[in-house]
Amino acid sequence: MGFVKENGRTIPVADKVFALNGRAKAATAEKGKDAVINAVIGALLDDNGDLVVMSSVMDAIKTLGPADYAEYAPIAGTPAFKEAVQKALFGKFQPKGFVRVCATPGGTGSITNVIENYSDFGDSVLTHDWCWANYRNICSENGRNLATFRFFDEDGKFDSADLEKQLYALAEKQDQVILMINTPAHNPTGYSLSLEDWSNVIRIVNAAKCKVVLFLDVAYIDYAGEDDEVRAFMPMLEELGSNVLTIYGYSASKTLTAYGMRCGAIVCVAHDEETAEEFKRASEYMARATWSNCNRSAQVAMGRIYSDPELLAKVDEERRGYRDMLLERGRVFEKTLNDNGVKCVPFSAGFFVTVACDDAASVCAKLEEQDIYCLALPKGIRVSIASISKEKCVKCAEAIAKLVK
Ligand code: PLP
Repeated sequence: MGFVKENGRTIPVADKVFALNGRAKAATAEKGKDAVINAVIGALLDDNGDLVVMSSVMDAIKTLGPADYAEYAPIAGTPAFKEAVQKALFGKFQPKGFVRVCATPGGTGSITNVIENYSDFGDSVLTHDWCWANYRNICSENGRNLATFRFFDEDGKFDSADLEKQLYALAEKQDQVILMINTPAHNPTGYSLSLEDWSNVIRIVNAAKCKVVLFLDVAYIDYAGEDDEVRAFMPMLEELGSNVLTIYGYSASKTLTAYGMRCGAIVCVAHDEETAEEFKRASEYMARATWSNCNRSAQVAMGRIYSDPELLAKVDEERRGYRDMLLERGRVFEKTLNDNGVKCVPFSAGFFVTVACDDAASVCAKLEEQDIYCLALPKGIRVSIASISKEKCVKCAEAIAKLVK
């Protein structure tokens, strides 16, 4: 019969990622773990294929009482949670501007929140052409378009010239543009903007003839490298002009390996108090009118972890071990690919590696025949190295290299 109103959206029959993961899981159930390479989902698995759950985080969760689960959280999050987010996000680079925090269900909620509050219906939101597919869905769901700039030039360098071109073209049509950048350890490429890239971004947005909301999706920041190094760009943002508002999308999903707890935040760093208070008003209103408030138990656990130096040290140490395991998988995957004559899209760290390819769908179909499950993107193949062992990284890279060469 058809009762659904599409409202300009294209609603697929099934989410592509979850459908593919379903097929990989069915193959694993039938043929066994060793026979199948499931490089689909962006969740960290150990070398046995089991979900990594940090025991130190679980210890913190076990200290919660019934009311920590049952009671509503304040719309913007509990005070301890808001403090914890600032510590977790900025580390030793606490910003000088006016900071406000509002809880969101994961990093995803922060993206919806910024799009609803900082763009008009029908506006274009600008991001890199390689991007998390959900950016497009969230824009579409909210009656916005997703515009893109070329992430890498012919030499594989951050394409600041195209960023400038696309941003300034939008500035001709819109008085304000959201520029979304996912770094460090970008999904799907694993690229992290260098400090030189950042100088270019700052120069470009400062000179834009429109207001710019610089939205930084840092969902993978804690897997990108050493804590201080991956945050070294943060003080540079103090050079941003008064036409720019910086907003971060924070996610505890990866940081605490707590994807299902749906814990995240949107965080603004404004030049003045008025803009910060405006952010607070709008982000809380939007939250109230959509998901209302977020998961209190996750907030209490995070508040406890970040206010207890001993517990925090345990969590940091445990995560560092997993981060290094992931970095090693990335190095091995890239090296195997290179040794077989194929290059990946510029990669630095993170959950994913991408191989550029014109017919990714047919390559992924052929990989699937070999029980290797990777996601076909419009311009390449995404491999979740987070979910496969080092040995499987080698096998997967070899199989991809054979098919794309
Ligand atoms: N941003 C990027 C680039 C992601 O890949 C993800 C999750 O896969 C998120 C944000 C949000 O994650 P979550 O909502 O689970 O915190």
